[in-house]
Amino acid sequence: MRVFHHPDLSLHDPQFFLMRGRIVPCFETPARAAALLEGARTSGLEIVTPDTVAPARLGSIHDEEYLRFLREGLRDWSAQPNAGPEIVPNMHPTPEMIAQGAMRGAGIVSRAGWYMADTACAIGEGTWASSLAAACCADAASRDVVSGARAAYAACRPPGHHAYAARAGGHCFLNNSALAAANLRAGGAARVAVLDIDSHHGNGTQGIFWDDASVLTVSVHGDPNHYYPWFVGHAHETGGVEGSNLNLPLPRHAGDGPWIEAVTKGAEAVRRFGAEALVLALGFDASKDEPLGFLDVSDDAFARAGAIAASLSLPTVIVQEGGYAVASLPRLLGRFLAGFSAG
Ligand SMILES: [Zn+2]
Repeated sequence: MRVFHHPDLSLHDPQFFLMRGRIVPCFETPARAAALLEGARTSGLEIVTPDTVAPARLGSIHDEEYLRFLREGLRDWSAQPNAGPEIVPNMHPTPEMIAQGAMRGAGIVSRAGWYMADTACAIGEGTWASSLAAACCADAASRDVVSGARAAYAACRPPGHHAYAARAGGHCFLNNSALAAANLRAGGAARVAVLDIDSHHGNGTQGIFWDDASVLTVSVHGDPNHYYPWFVGHAHETGGVEGSNLNLPLPRHAGDGPWIEAVTKGAEAVRRFGAEALVLALGFDASKDEPLGFLDVSDDAFARAGAIAASLSLPTVIVQEGGYAVASLPRLLGRFLAGFSAG
């Protein structure tokens, strides 16, 4: 298995993170990129720097004006009097406004509120470069699999699964897992599944493929009644095309037993769907080591999850999502990849 990693992954260095009314250091740190690389190296895998993703492939997932906002918005933000160093939205259209014809304005405050779901995706100097580098990793890894590799690992950072077609949120800007799934579809797989085992609901991926019967999205995550993304991730969200989405929410402090049971149930759904290729959206924040933890999953369970994914015997793109216990990341990645290789 080849690993796709890019030197620009560490350029994004968000300073603003709002937690319970306080500004605290952001958990999604540049050090995560090096930790993932260390884990891949220790596993003895070949590391490859990807080519730049073709704009048309990014455009197959994301809205053009949204991409322009990510690329160029900081310039307009910085031109405001007394502007802070990062784009942080402070006003969003509400459901009532949208129901009554709300529109995105041309100004940067309007665009920030429109294109950003929350304050956990501050856009600074290095944000676009790192987001693009992460997308390049997912793009190259998926093309490697389309070309015949059994599996490839995209060491994406920042993560992507909370990003919708035209909305950033929860540390995510470009949806790397969705890009990989779209590439697998374009590469000839008639049906593709995304199995997301990050501890947060993969809401952006669900949103992107909501009306697409050829892509099954499955997410195993903490109960959104008590955990990000707070509003979606419920079991009743079964897809715009009935049965094309499966959410498996778990209660706080769920450990290996219920987590593995849910991952197994997710894998069974992938099999029933008749997927010809798989995107495994890999987060490590279900780990018991996680600083803002909700689930209590052991290292052994990550190895078992790797084996469960491998047991589907599908061409597989493993795309890195979250996981913020930086010191644990090399070890957790090593355990998952070892489980996958043995499975
Ligand atoms: Zn997460």
